[in-house]
Amino acid sequence: MPAAERDLFDVIVVGAGNAAFTAALAARAAGAQVLVLEKASQKLRGGNTRFTGGIFRCAYNGIEDLIPVVRGNDNPDTVLVDPYTRADYLKDLQRVTGGRTDPVLSQILVERSYDTVRWMADLGVVWEFNRAVGAVTRAGVAKVKLPSGGALRVRGEGVVLSSTLFRLAEEAEIALLYETHAQRIVTAADGRVVGVEVRGPEGIRVLHCRALVLASGGFQASPEMRTAYLGPNWSLVKVRGTRFNTGEMIRAALTTGAQSYGEWSGCHATPIDADAPTYGELRLTDKTNRLSYPFSVMVNLDGERFVDEGEDFNLYTYAKMGREILQQRSATVLQIFDRQTVPLLETRYNTATPVIAQSLPELADGIGERYGALGFRKANFRKTLESYNAAVQEGVFNPDIHDGKRTAGLRPEKTNWATRLDEPPFQAYATTVGITFTFGGIRIDANAAVVDHLERPIPGLFATGELTGGFFYLNYPGGAGLMRGAVFGRLAGTHAAQWALDNR
Ligand SMILES: Cc1cc2nc3c(=O)[nH]c(=O)nc-3n(C[C@H](O)[C@H](O)[C@H](O)COP(=O)(O)OP(=O)(O)OC[C@H]3O[C@@H](n4cnc5c(N)ncnc54)[C@H](O)[C@@H]3O)c2cc1C
Repeated sequence: MPAAERDLFDVIVVGAGNAAFTAALAARAAGAQVLVLEKASQKLRGGNTRFTGGIFRCAYNGIEDLIPVVRGNDNPDTVLVDPYTRADYLKDLQRVTGGRTDPVLSQILVERSYDTVRWMADLGVVWEFNRAVGAVTRAGVAKVKLPSGGALRVRGEGVVLSSTLFRLAEEAEIALLYETHAQRIVTAADGRVVGVEVRGPEGIRVLHCRALVLASGGFQASPEMRTAYLGPNWSLVKVRGTRFNTGEMIRAALTTGAQSYGEWSGCHATPIDADAPTYGELRLTDKTNRLSYPFSVMVNLDGERFVDEGEDFNLYTYAKMGREILQQRSATVLQIFDRQTVPLLETRYNTATPVIAQSLPELADGIGERYGALGFRKANFRKTLESYNAAVQEGVFNPDIHDGKRTAGLRPEKTNWATRLDEPPFQAYATTVGITFTFGGIRIDANAAVVDHLERPIPGLFATGELTGGFFYLNYPGGAGLMRGAVFGRLAGTHAAQWALDNR
């Protein structure tokens, strides 16, 4: 029976990203009739998931755990992998969130991470080693050192992850409606969720269900909600991914009695190409990211350094770096590299047009020509680079480890990977802020059930992915977003199906 004609589903899932489909597939496997609602058109479907680099942060004890995930699709002899244990993962989550991550939810995320990646491989998702983001490739070294915790990605990245999930859903006979914008949760007098009101091609109507899973993303694509919750200037930033995550189901859940949770004024925002489009474009997906800054000197338009570029590996600082850039004039900064560090640039830098020069004064002139209209302060820039070069301490530069090669006497210092800018040609990449997703959302419990202010589950309501709060605060370890969506998607789908079947 066509989806539009069925008048009651066991489980309706709102959204069509990674979080939604892991929920839908788990619910279907548990025997439920499932409908997925996608606000976007078929052409623009798939949410932020489709834009991702497909990296899933999971715990593993070594290459022997990764081989059964990549299953012959990649060659383990070409990579170097350090163990990334559950304890390491938990410690990273606690460290980067300043100890604020919810202890129960983060524990589940960590403990179920590896198992969930294996489950996705069983479903038909194809994995490979992540050599692209955070990995270190060095001239003369045959093996690529994979980033700690971020060793795996989906082959074909987010585009293929998304198309695979749509295909698997179709094969599992999960119904799907495009251009269907969920806007209100419908409850019975006893508080149970019994449906969702949608606005779609057929107008406004209520679709009935026994359980509802919310997986419709954060509110980062709503300038109004960004301003309200993240604060001034956030309405001006570029959106790295989908334009459809505008937070209405977060509001709908709050109206239904869900508890708001997490850092509502916080978000994942990264350095991106200053010329990136206002919203993510599928031709570029995540290729506008500019994450090799730990090996750069980063200056603002006043020619001043403003951050410790080498505080940590990029996957542990990139998500908070956008906020630092937003605080700079015109939210525009420059990443400067020389011949020693250009070979370390992620391949994504190929999508930019850098200013290239044979000397630092020439570089300053080149930047002045291109960004003079923004008031670039050339003389200050030259002074900053001179002081930086003079402050670099002796030591061995090693991009694989926290090498402690640092500056002394600067404010801020660069505490790792500080090499002098003294080998031409020099390259400058103009960079701005791109928001990825928001950290605040609704509260779920260990079963992915949405809870009210007394921490009691709202009967029949479950949630997963970007619209849940409490996981990430201030910062985020790269690859934990997809993993969180999948771990709790699987849980949401399983428990929603169980609830629905028990209440048939
Ligand atoms: C450029 C980029 C690169 C990234 N790379 C990575 C990475 O490599 N690893 C990682 O872990 N994370 C990455 N992320 C973060 C990533 O976005 C999330 O981790 C993950 O994709 C979020 O999945 P989700 O299913 O919660 O949301 P989404 O994938 O955004 O899905 C939300 C869905 O809900 C739909 N929707 C929204 N509102 C409604 C409504 N009212 N009614 C119906 N449908 C609605 C949307 O259209 C969409 O289909 C990246 C993000 C971006 C933008």
